[in-house]
Amino acid sequence: DPMVDAHAQPDEAAAEAALRPHTLAEFRGQPRVAEQLGLVLAAARNRAHVPDHVLLSGPPGLGKTTLAGIIANELGVPLRISSGPAIQHAGDLAAILSGLAEGEVFFLDEIHRMSRAAEEMLYLAMEDFRVDVIVGKGPGATAIPLQIPRFTMVGATTRAGLLPGPLRDRFGFTAQLDFYAPEALTEIVVTSARRLGVGLDPDAAAEIAGRSRGTPRIANRLLRRVRDYAAVKADGHITRELARAALKLYEVDERGLDRLDRRVLESLCTRFGGGPVGLSTLAISVGEEAETVEEVAEPFLVREGFLMRTPRGRAATPAGWAHLGLTPPSASPS
Ligand code: ATP
Repeated sequence: DPMVDAHAQPDEAAAEAALRPHTLAEFRGQPRVAEQLGLVLAAARNRAHVPDHVLLSGPPGLGKTTLAGIIANELGVPLRISSGPAIQHAGDLAAILSGLAEGEVFFLDEIHRMSRAAEEMLYLAMEDFRVDVIVGKGPGATAIPLQIPRFTMVGATTRAGLLPGPLRDRFGFTAQLDFYAPEALTEIVVTSARRLGVGLDPDAAAEIAGRSRGTPRIANRLLRRVRDYAAVKADGHITRELARAALKLYEVDERGLDRLDRRVLESLCTRFGGGPVGLSTLAISVGEEAETVEEVAEPFLVREGFLMRTPRGRAATPAGWAHLGLTPPSASPS
């Protein structure tokens, strides 16, 4: 169920692009990152130099691609986008780097998934704006240094810890993006509704934001689905009642749990007395693979404090019981 998946869905690239902010001032919800990045860019402008390379880390959907676009826009330079898995050979990288315009921003998503050989080429490129092209094979091979345009590297990774030290060290500025506070997400929903040209009550924006798992990508996706619902079932204007009805239909609950999340939590509480119960038993009880439960449902349930992983298995927390409107069995003396 892609409704609350933080990864981009294959068909939503255009819809996302239409909702991207283009300036740092419009980038809401990460004030510290915005301020620090503003300084990096201002300093570069003052020195009339390309800015330090920027590393963005954080979970999907929090605005890494958006920030890369903003950096290019604020500098008034083009943006080139690629991703780690697309760069399997050093030659792939050499082709991109040598084709950059002077000062261009090069955004490399999933930078930790680039091949080793490409990584080593990138060290040199980031440091000296130079690549060594290897010509020939074996003992006769020679490295021909090739000057490349000065560029700003913007790398993105879900975890900065996955990057080899030498690569991490070549970034002058690292920003860690965090999940967004509900107020910031509400602001983003309001702005997106304006961009989409749809009327939205303030409490409806808060309702959508509250179900978006701290993630702008999910907030925008839920808004688009609610907009569709409003257009078909009503006059297009989004009230809180309407947002609730729509999200009930799409099976996204008040805290952003989807059907699978709820089934896992419900099964844990109603069939296993709240646990602890082993992962595979829990998975069988909801008719899913253990990996699905572990990788798709559990991380958010844990993050919300509804479920705990214990050495003896999965257990529901008091907050988990409360979220389902259930009372935990009174603790028995052990
Ligand atoms: P991935 O790692 O999957 O590529 P990402 O971190 O690059 O994700 P983006 O593509 O930048 O995420 O953002 C996803 C969506 O969320 C976009 O539509 C973007 O407009 C919106 N968005 C992200 N951050 C913000 C923000 N601070 N303000 C407004 N909209 C935002």
